Amino acid sequence: MQANPEGPVPALPARRGLPAAQQPDYPDPQALQEVVADLETCPPLVFAGECDRLREHMAAVARGEAFLLQGGDCAETFEAVSADQIRGKLRTLLQMSAVLTYAARVPVVKVGRIAGQYAKPRSHAYETRDGVTLPSYRGDAVNGLDFTRQSRTPDPARLRRMYHSSAATLNLVRALSTGGFADLRQVHAWNRDFVASSPSGERYERLAREIDSALSFIHACGASPEEFEKTEFFASHEALLLDYERALTRVDSRTGELYDVSGHMVWIGERTRQLDGAHIAFAARIRNPVAVKLGPTTTVDEALQYAERLDPDGEPGRLTFVVRMGAKRIRDRLPELVEKVTASGLTVAWVSDPMHGNTYEAPSGHKTRSFDDVLDEVKGFFEVHRALGTHPGGIHVELTGDDVTECVGGGAEVFVDDLHRRYETACDPRLNHSQSLDLAFLVAEMYPHRGGAARGTAGGGEQTGTRPRSTA
Ligand code: PEP
Ligand code: MN
Repeated sequence: MQANPEGPVPALPARRGLPAAQQPDYPDPQALQEVVADLETCPPLVFAGECDRLREHMAAVARGEAFLLQGGDCAETFEAVSADQIRGKLRTLLQMSAVLTYAARVPVVKVGRIAGQYAKPRSHAYETRDGVTLPSYRGDAVNGLDFTRQSRTPDPARLRRMYHSSAATLNLVRALSTGGFADLRQVHAWNRDFVASSPSGERYERLAREIDSALSFIHACGASPEEFEKTEFFASHEALLLDYERALTRVDSRTGELYDVSGHMVWIGERTRQLDGAHIAFAARIRNPVAVKLGPTTTVDEALQYAERLDPDGEPGRLTFVVRMGAKRIRDRLPELVEKVTASGLTVAWVSDPMHGNTYEAPSGHKTRSFDDVLDEVKGFFEVHRALGTHPGGIHVELTGDDVTECVGGGAEVFVDDLHRRYETACDPRLNHSQSLDLAFLVAEMYPHRGGAARGTAGGGEQTGTRPRSTA
């Protein structure tokens, strides 16, 4: 078993010298200090040994031996910490993973945007409605979504609630991953509510039948591998609020190294990736696997410097680049980055976030994304890697297990006029359950061919009618 990182340890004194973008403006700094002191005494949410294990899995991704499926809400909310919601997200990810594993014949590393994804960077610090200007919503970790002065004022007590909500979520995720829910023999049960409701649900059902018969065969041979009964599921979030992340950074008693024990993997977002900023400096000091989001303005020099700062030893699995260029720019911007980073001898994991470069406002005023754009960005990502002979390491998506109407398109098509029906996100629009499955099937078809008969059945060959209409 892994050693438990010991706490409390004054592991990371605040580095006040470096500029930290996107931090809340707390009206009462003393109250913040009290919360931070409290958090420093709280037990770790994850163990250092688990972070190491994920780093090893990410090394397999970087080497081209596994595929990363990272997904969950744009912004988790305290209100949505319920068994149904958490189970729904997990089930969606498990189904996507089954599709990818079976149809693309690739081991899938499952990582949620979960149990800590409560803080949001914002393009605008203030929001104005009907002549009233208030601070923007920065996620439940910071303030409330309601447009009142009281709700929008940053409250450090929310950091405590973030910790406890993350703990409760992770507790359920761990129970579901190992306690029978994730057993591959449940592959049909995960789909129960969806079969009739969407083409991808029906396509999934056929795939589940194939998995079932493969499992029966294996059992008949006398084997009962433990891997089929439980799954490894990891938690990740954007390391945005440095007071919180530092308070949960601890020394690992085994090695004396620092780990951010708020999640297995953390990433630095597009708005906080300044090379001389506090976020990159923070990520450089922890041993967790870390990721950096790369938007369309990223230069080769920046990418190489991230690698130098965050992965000085060139250790596969340590650094992941999550590329979010937008469907229109991915084919122009990505090749040079991949080419030069690869030429420098580094083995990083390349992952596509096809969501954040493809957001637009619908005529109704809803922030939305089109499934076709999402798909096109992933396609561009795969094309670039195919041309360069490098590995398309995974996808990073915003999704939910519910039947929301936040993104348009997909096989059970959501139209712009539907957006108002179930628009429930606290921040960016998410793929609903059926759109998520659509994406998994299409990504499995794109994945570099590994042979195997699965392609003709569960994969692309059959049932073109199950493709999202608009891409057929
Ligand atoms: C996000 O992942 O929700 C996000 C804000 O992404 P980015 O930093 O890439 O804009
Ligand atoms: Mn988002």
